[in-house]
Amino acid sequence: STPGGPRSREEKIVVTVRLRPLNKREQLAKDQVAWDCIDDHTIVYKPPPQERSAQPASFSFDKVFGPASITEAVYEEGVKTVALSSLMGINATIFAYGQTSSGKTYTMRGITEKAVNDIYRHIMNTPERDFTIKISGLEIYNENVRDLLNSESGRNLKLLDDPEKGTVVEKLVEETANDDQHLRQLISICEAQRQVGETALNDNSSRSHQIIRLTIESTLRENSDCVRSFIASLNFVDLAGSERASQTHADGARLREGCHINLSLMTLTTVIRKLSVGKRSGHIPYRDSKLTRILQHSLGGNARTAIICTLSPAMSHVEQSRNTLYFATRAK
Ligand code: ADP
Ligand code: MG
Repeated sequence: STPGGPRSREEKIVVTVRLRPLNKREQLAKDQVAWDCIDDHTIVYKPPPQERSAQPASFSFDKVFGPASITEAVYEEGVKTVALSSLMGINATIFAYGQTSSGKTYTMRGITEKAVNDIYRHIMNTPERDFTIKISGLEIYNENVRDLLNSESGRNLKLLDDPEKGTVVEKLVEETANDDQHLRQLISICEAQRQVGETALNDNSSRSHQIIRLTIESTLRENSDCVRSFIASLNFVDLAGSERASQTHADGARLREGCHINLSLMTLTTVIRKLSVGKRSGHIPYRDSKLTRILQHSLGGNARTAIICTLSPAMSHVEQSRNTLYFATRAK
């Protein structure tokens, strides 16, 4: 892009892939590793012996992280610039996308922690600006929105259209963080609250989306005059298992039961695909699901997005891993 001109869409959506190690259970079951990260940008399918004639499929992304990668590297190389843009008033969203057990929650927790450290480091180094950080947390389960900072508020909060703020969640608690330690405390309350849901509702974490939203405000002062102010949201989104986006194996009651959760995930995949195509993609169906309504102003437009696609290395999961890589390819 030209200096000072609009950012190219490539810089607005950063897509990375993280392949986790085989876990104990997969090792005990003698599951094989189906994928190989051959360099920083490329992941290839390693077919089993009986499939040797098949061409190994190769997929390329902004960045590919292999099983030995640490979350710090995923943050530094795949997320940091997107996350820190929120300090300059640019809305940003970080997603973890992948099938259940592929490492979404593991990755998002680490990423959130690294981002919080980085944000407070930046605040310390920017004494000329006064910062306020607020946090809210919510979960979407079957298109019902629940407050993760207020367990008393019920399981079905309403979405309202505010003329200034866009879509807002009615009665959602927003806490102001006193400092970094307080912010970490509030984040762990959200995580604990999500686990309560997991115990109460079978399969909750594979079906629900979690959003932790930081609202970062700052004012630049000169001789005690406010000369400029910034405000932006930074969203950390741990999505429902991506197997919920494909209905190929679902039927009858299972399909009906699952279709609500699919609505938010399927709408999100459509929105992201259309955003990645750019201006000529036509109508973007933000309003078709709760997740995309809530995130509308943090997706597309001037907003920045980082998508971390998490993969299980196991041969037994190869079909879902391929679906994830197809999604990642379309999101680029
Ligand atoms: P998901 O949220 O996608 O269902 P989890 O994040 O819960 O998956 O991960 C499933 C299991 O794999 C957890 O026990 C987690 O600790 C482990 N795991 C995930 N990613 C990694 C990784 N990159 N390195 C080591 N262990 C991981
Ligand atoms: Mg999870």
